[in-house]
Amino acid sequence: MTETVQPFEADVSRVLDLVINSLYKERDIFLRELISNASDACDKLRYQSLSQPELLETDPDLKIRILADAALGLLTVTDNGIGMNREDLCENLGTIARSGTARFLEQLSGDKDKDLKLIGQFGVGFYSVFMVADKVVVQTRKAGEDKSWIWASDGRSGYTVQEAPATVPRGTSITLHLKADAKEYLDGWKIRQIVRTYSDHIGIPILLEVREKAGDGKAKAEEPQQINEASAIWTRPKSEISEDQYREFYHHVAHAFDEPFARLHFTAEGVLSYTALLFVPSTRPFDLFDPKRRHGVKLYVRRVFITSDLEALMPRYLRFVSGVVDSEDLQLNVSRETLQHGAVIAKMKKALVRRLLDEIAAKAKASTAASADGEAKPDGEAKTKSYEDWWAEFGSVLKEGLYEDAENREKLLELARFRSTHGAGWTSLADYVARMKEGQDAIYYISGESHTALRTSPQLEQALAKGVEVLLLDDPVDDFWLPEVKDYQGKPFRSLTRGEVDLSAIKAEGEAEKESEPKLDDEALKRLIARLKTALGEEVTDIRSSKRLRDSAVCLVADEHGLDLRLERFLKQHSQ
Ligand code: ADP
Ligand code: MG
Repeated sequence: MTETVQPFEADVSRVLDLVINSLYKERDIFLRELISNASDACDKLRYQSLSQPELLETDPDLKIRILADAALGLLTVTDNGIGMNREDLCENLGTIARSGTARFLEQLSGDKDKDLKLIGQFGVGFYSVFMVADKVVVQTRKAGEDKSWIWASDGRSGYTVQEAPATVPRGTSITLHLKADAKEYLDGWKIRQIVRTYSDHIGIPILLEVREKAGDGKAKAEEPQQINEASAIWTRPKSEISEDQYREFYHHVAHAFDEPFARLHFTAEGVLSYTALLFVPSTRPFDLFDPKRRHGVKLYVRRVFITSDLEALMPRYLRFVSGVVDSEDLQLNVSRETLQHGAVIAKMKKALVRRLLDEIAAKAKASTAASADGEAKPDGEAKTKSYEDWWAEFGSVLKEGLYEDAENREKLLELARFRSTHGAGWTSLADYVARMKEGQDAIYYISGESHTALRTSPQLEQALAKGVEVLLLDDPVDDFWLPEVKDYQGKPFRSLTRGEVDLSAIKAEGEAEKESEPKLDDEALKRLIARLKTALGEEVTDIRSSKRLRDSAVCLVADEHGLDLRLERFLKQHSQ
């Protein structure tokens, strides 16, 4: 086979450029990425071997080996996992297969600091090796296949793939030709320290072998030593897991790089025994609205990875949750059918959702209490996101649950935050209700493109004059749950832009109805309406005099039983 250099996809080149030029200060993470991929590859093989035990050949003990060869300046990470064939290599190490990448690249601004933060959140995966190596060689053979392949690249021009001259062991071996300024990664102490920091949660053994350059020119070899604990982190007692270890596990399992916003780690025993370790992110994943999004909650059965099928364990409106659920009771060869429709899984899912929502509610409560204290956190303690800031990023997804999950509707309504005419920030419905005026029996809202624009809407005039608070709904998803939900604690949601809204039962603020209604000349009004009707013709259903306005002359309202204005606009846009 001839060795022609295949160019990287344009996106890969852009990412490589960024990685090599701006991520320089965090070079250690390349090892974390390699180990993370090796561990994923072992998980995949272990799962496939359940139905095809022959895939394990004569090498059933899955492990990761690191070889540091100081004499040659080479660092090699080897796994005996699933391996890759030619197509896998081209697809995985020549393109950026991750679905969120396109959006990620769109968000790059050219501002180095900002982009660095972004790339830190996104993670760079395999390509991070080019921070420390000027040449990378991947030797691999896929489980169950005969042919071995060699992929090589300098991280600039492109890559080559050829068939290997001799068969290599199953799995993947990645050799880095370290740059002159990256020789520190040949130091056993340095490698141990990185593994301890980033990869201690990995559930399979990581062995390290260091070959030092001896003075006499001969290499001094050390016996390979296991350098991690190799027990799945979720099986350890909580008290023995540090915050850092939890965070690193989250980064691995979610393929994310932010601080988790909330965490849930518990073991359920009884009819159904399982351990769950789940995380709620603090920043929005790039592919949150991508239907092909992967990396959700992974299902394990007695420590064996089974699936990361998103919908099996989490409802769609919690698709940002990631982590692991490890069941003691399920069959290892659990079928797809059982996963999607089985009663056992459904029960587990229900319990997980309930506990997650409770955990988020606890965060909301703690966050409110903290802001009420008004106290700054002591120096050095990482600033955690406030609940409101978190809601701003995840609220529109969570609100999908208001129409998808009737059972948890009350919980979700308590979690929801809205913009309102009461101040510039967010409000909960409970706080809105507490501020309701005497005689007010509904929760009033108007909806539109943005809450800032809504603040000046003429639709608000009558309510504002009475001191009645109005929710300003500017999220398209609001139009979907409102018709389903109808009320909160018996108080109906009522739109100010629909039909005739009567606020006359509500006592006005301060001076009670002192400002008398200006007398209108009925005849003149009739003539005006008639003229307007001729002028506007079919454009409007009706023209009426109204009490809702104070300063503006006219405003548009929707028919009581027709579509709300915003929904109408939304549907128009989407049917084009
Ligand atoms: P991610 O791990 O988020 O998918 P990476 O850039 O780290 O992204 O890796 C890209 C892909 O390359 C992986 O999804 C996997 O399919 C493949 N890959 C990388 N390393 C290995 C390995 N050691 N064994 C098998 N496949 C691998
Ligand atoms: Mg990876």
